[in-house]
Amino acid sequence: MQSSPTNKDRALTHLLDLLAVEGPTGQEAQVVAAITKKLIAAGCKKSWIKTDDAHKRLGDGFEIGNLIVQLPGTVKAPRILFSAHMDTVPLCKGAAPAVKGNRVVAKGKTGLGGDDRSGCAAIVTLAETLLKNKLPHPPITLLFPIAEENGLHGSRMVRFKDLGNPVMGFNLDGQCPNEIVIGAMSAARWTAKITGRSSHAGLEPHKGISAGLIASKAMASIAEKGYFGRIEKGKRRGTSNVGTMHGGDANNQVMDSMVLTGECRSHSPAFLEQIIKIHKTSFEQAARSVVNDAGKCGKVKFTPRSDYRAFKLKKSEPCVRIASQAVEAIGLKPNPLVMDAGLDANNFNEKGIPVVTLGTGSHNFHTVDEYVDIKEYQTACDVLLQISHLCR
Ligand SMILES: [Zn+2]
Repeated sequence: MQSSPTNKDRALTHLLDLLAVEGPTGQEAQVVAAITKKLIAAGCKKSWIKTDDAHKRLGDGFEIGNLIVQLPGTVKAPRILFSAHMDTVPLCKGAAPAVKGNRVVAKGKTGLGGDDRSGCAAIVTLAETLLKNKLPHPPITLLFPIAEENGLHGSRMVRFKDLGNPVMGFNLDGQCPNEIVIGAMSAARWTAKITGRSSHAGLEPHKGISAGLIASKAMASIAEKGYFGRIEKGKRRGTSNVGTMHGGDANNQVMDSMVLTGECRSHSPAFLEQIIKIHKTSFEQAARSVVNDAGKCGKVKFTPRSDYRAFKLKKSEPCVRIASQAVEAIGLKPNPLVMDAGLDANNFNEKGIPVVTLGTGSHNFHTVDEYVDIKEYQTACDVLLQISHLCR
């Protein structure tokens, strides 16, 4: 293990500064400003830095686009990508970072935002280390996507030509610095709009068609078939959840409408389709089974929407190989793994850029116990530097 030119104190300063910036999903403008300022101080030219129009294409509720920085190479080599999302979950609002022993924690009862400001800070540190030390490096694109937390929106909307067509990428959004996420799952959301018929619940209940009863029968049927929660059918695995249920106006009125939303996940896109199909048919059967005295039944409009597709990279894939070599070069054992969640990397891989996801010392995501392990974070900064060496 050779000594690293990464300045550990500077790396920690970048982390603390970026953790202190508020930027929940859809409101990343202050994060863009903070990262841009740091990159210019690190030696990036203004002309390398821009934001795209992803927010405009996403519509209301998104104030700024993805931050994209294209560093020209100092050696002739294919362009590579480093990415880390800028948004944090709502729990991180008002977070005030503090160093406590070998960890960075939030002072109050909030999340910290190490997911994923630790990734953003590691990338800023990489740019600073390369530029200040004039280290030879390939052409590098730094991407800071918006709106990862509520559906990987920024990475889905980014145009690859705006990234300068990198051949492979390294996404930072994980825990231990030896982690290399080589696969993740598919996910879909669904909405079920149930239409029944209202009537007086005491005088004429038989004339009504209860949307609430339809929803209950549908959910019970999905669970009885073994398609609720953790799903295991032979070798096939998945999950499903109902997230929201809204309906009804009054206790003395048969409920005439109800809207349910939920999500399903699987590492197998084919099995995900099967899970969705079971949901759809269960709602439709339930709607048909609730009949009033005039022989009329309820209706349901079931709408699934794909969120992201599963991927699994081969160990021979260059980005997997290089990430493993970089982890080994700093004296750690690479830990390739497949995640039970979605990542910006799902969108990159789906669109044809092979991308692994690496850890940055950030732990207990989305809880008030979130922290960043300072040593692990600084090690992750070294992994990034090694990757840039290996790609030149
Ligand atoms: Zn994240």
